[in-house]
Amino acid sequence: MPYSIKHIAQIISASCAVLEEASIVYLLIDSRKIVFPETSLFFALTGPRRDGHSYIHEVYKRGVRNFVVSQKIDTTLYPNANFLLVNDVLKALQTLASHHRSQFHYPVIGITGSNGKTIVKEWLYQLLQGEENIVRSPRSYNSQVGVPLSVWQMQRQHTLGIFEAGISTVGEMEALANIIQPTIGILTNIGEAHSEGFANDEEKLKEKLQLFTHCQQLVYCKDALPTGNNIEALLNPSIQLFSWSKKDIATVQITSETRLLNQTEIFILYQEKSFSIFIPFTDTASIDNAISCICVMLLKGFEIATIQSRLLQLQPVEMRMQLKKGVNNTYILNDSYSNDLSSLSIALDYLKQQSGSANTTVILSDILQAGIADDKLYVMVANELQQRHIHRFIGIGKVISKYHVVFNNIQQTSFYNTTDDFLQQATHHQFSNDYILLKGARVFAFERINHWLEQKVHQTVMEINLSAMVHNVKQYQQKLLPTTKLMAMVKAFSYGSGSVEVARLLQFHKVDYLAVAYADEGVDLRKAGITLPIMVMNVDEAGFDALVDYNLEPEIYSFNIYNSFQQYLFQQGIQQFPIHIKFNTGMNRLGFEVDDVEILAKQLVKQQTFVVKTVFSHLVASESAEHDGFTQHQAILFNTACAVLEQQLPNRFIKHLANSSGIFRHPNLQYNMVRLGIGLYGVDSANGTELHLQPVATLKTTIAQIRTVKANDTVGYNRKGKVLRDSKIATIRIGYADGFNRQLGNGVGKVWLHHQLAPVIGNVCMDMVMIDVTDIVNVQEGDEVEVFGKHLPIQQVAVWCNTIAYEVMTTISQRVKRVYIEE
Ligand SMILES: *Cc1c(COP(=O)(O)O)cnc(C)c1O
Repeated sequence: MPYSIKHIAQIISASCAVLEEASIVYLLIDSRKIVFPETSLFFALTGPRRDGHSYIHEVYKRGVRNFVVSQKIDTTLYPNANFLLVNDVLKALQTLASHHRSQFHYPVIGITGSNGKTIVKEWLYQLLQGEENIVRSPRSYNSQVGVPLSVWQMQRQHTLGIFEAGISTVGEMEALANIIQPTIGILTNIGEAHSEGFANDEEKLKEKLQLFTHCQQLVYCKDALPTGNNIEALLNPSIQLFSWSKKDIATVQITSETRLLNQTEIFILYQEKSFSIFIPFTDTASIDNAISCICVMLLKGFEIATIQSRLLQLQPVEMRMQLKKGVNNTYILNDSYSNDLSSLSIALDYLKQQSGSANTTVILSDILQAGIADDKLYVMVANELQQRHIHRFIGIGKVISKYHVVFNNIQQTSFYNTTDDFLQQATHHQFSNDYILLKGARVFAFERINHWLEQKVHQTVMEINLSAMVHNVKQYQQKLLPTTKLMAMVKAFSYGSGSVEVARLLQFHKVDYLAVAYADEGVDLRKAGITLPIMVMNVDEAGFDALVDYNLEPEIYSFNIYNSFQQYLFQQGIQQFPIHIKFNTGMNRLGFEVDDVEILAKQLVKQQTFVVKTVFSHLVASESAEHDGFTQHQAILFNTACAVLEQQLPNRFIKHLANSSGIFRHPNLQYNMVRLGIGLYGVDSANGTELHLQPVATLKTTIAQIRTVKANDTVGYNRKGKVLRDSKIATIRIGYADGFNRQLGNGVGKVWLHHQLAPVIGNVCMDMVMIDVTDIVNVQEGDEVEVFGKHLPIQQVAVWCNTIAYEVMTTISQRVKRVYIEE
């Protein structure tokens, strides 16, 4: 249902005339995600650090002609374009979505709560898709921007909408309520998540309840409310309340539950009838989410037998996109959980973001999506692929094969009727160096393709949570002035996390600079298509060719390296090469002495070979209060050096001093740029509490064998592990060759499994470690063990090893497979 741009101008009360008629189908907020430029409307959203107006030029160049802006634009620069001028671009986006929502009169479920929103939404979709044609939020699109984009997908052919709303501070829910306009509300729970923006739980509850102001019915869990809160008093009295509880009288009362091996039987009292239902999960969160769904089905009048049979088919929701290394240097993005057009488009964006300039392959099954005729659907799919320049397309299924001609514009295509056909005919050598997206409906069992493409390695992996990394960057950015630039330190294989993958993410999120330790690290990044400027900290003559060939910018730290690089460039006839000048202000490692700044300035002034891009120094102890005096002393020396260069050099340069802990402990020392290192990875080296960082790396492995060892026997080399009682000992698949420090042996270190810590027993071996699991029930071979991560902070492991988190991270060996996760 396209809107004319004139109509949109009216809806959002834009204050300038529309010159060119246009019809709008897509709302665009991200210049990197243009797919259908002619029918897209770009909203120039402004945030604290990014101003959408500065992307107008880029977006226009790529064919977009319609814009919503809040600043006057020189329209003569953009022929044939419409600029709708409003006071607040975000409000305009929300107003448009809210208007769109009002056009439809089918039921809409609105979900909020601290946890479980996405799962409840996805499960309701699984449970109700038999009778309804459902439109729902893609993934976790639940923010001030995500909600309008979700609701914009509503169309006439749908019969039910399911949208989630997430807020982080007071005042946000009203806007979301006006956009979603739910007729049925679900409150999952009020927990710890996102508490920072609220004074207390009651304030948070009140804010969340705003979503339900105009609901007819509300499903909620009584037990999850903050104590002493009476929800009825806070809500519009006309709302029909549908409560559930495990402790109290409620519409749906859970009288007891029995956990079985892999399911849970819950006993329900509802409308004076007792019955039980099996839920195919055993963890509390899943049970609670399933009960919310059962309530909605009861509310909608489903028979108990139907509820039971559908519930047993519930599938776990994989909310994360996982990028894994596959055979022949490929990467596999397996996103086979959802199988519809909007999730395809999100997965394709992610694939392109990760692949950089590498080739891309999409393997797609028949799409089982109601509501669009097949011929139209596959034309739309082909369009999505072609717009993103996907190199190779493999279609699997009878229907998609029938429409093979619509994919003719893609470089390389092939089609198979079944997954088996594909697996019989395909060979590994057809797949090398490319990024492969797997997206298949459940019946096509694409996990078999995934398995076939995956590189077989031992089961120790380091998971890198890219979403957590983005979160951490934002935490630090909040401490900076909007104009302060950010250099991300990706040296040492990005502190062990994988340089290329991390650099791609940071490039996508528009950090300003990258820095590596050695030239060859920079070369790897360039080969992977990283175009950001890259500073190389430790250069020597052997690396000069690489610097020039790959456009890498050296740190110049001494007169010796200055002279030899200058001479090298001179011989090559190169001028104006970008360099970074480093001063020693107390570290006594690399850098010019501040006393030499006058001599250095004289040399720089009379030459053309170098351009000074930045001037910097490094803080010795920015994390410790004890040395704050010394830190300020370093800053004074640094200022002295900068002042001389600023006075004498013809061009302006960027100044930078602070590392991660400097950023928030010394906000007065941010100059024009800061260098963020360990903080990216979720480690606060000052051990403070004011930053809400999320751990990025999780190292995990599995149990290979479990045995009982009798009292007085020993475990491991040199009989070091003395067993004092009859014990259950598990061997895990990690050793010092993987980076599991030998100091963790003999009870010093512990690992985390089944919500408990288990001590290491005996010496750490090269490839294996034994742990004592006597006190942990139900441990089985194959169980997962966390070495560090979310539950066992890396800082704790560092303490056990007598070292710092930096060393623990960077010593995880390259044979440990890295898996990248996007939440
Ligand atoms: C590694 C490094 C940083 C980053 O330090 P963190 O403490 O990890 O933030 C900054 N500057 C220089 C010169 C470095 O070598």
